[in-house]
Amino acid sequence: MASPDTFSIPVVTASAHEHAWVTASMHATSGGRIRYVRCVSCEAWRVDVDAAPGRPPLPHTRVVGADDGGKPRTAGPRTR
Ligand SMILES: [Zn+2]
Repeated sequence: MASPDTFSIPVVTASAHEHAWVTASMHATSGGRIRYVRCVSCEAWRVDVDAAPGRPPLPHTRVVGADDGGKPRTAGPRTR
């Protein structure tokens, strides 16, 4: 017999946050121009490389610093 007591099933929702990258610094290397980019709304960082003139930069590393799944940070002073 089925129990009349039910429990809600936890629903895991995917983060709707899409990183908005801005270049924090860049420099030329023998392999091309490297950009250190950070997300304007969370703590994520990534290194990009300029692939070719007139083309958008390509990710060179995975995203770091967004252990919370890339959730936007709350308002308030940055703690670094
Ligand atoms: Zn982000």
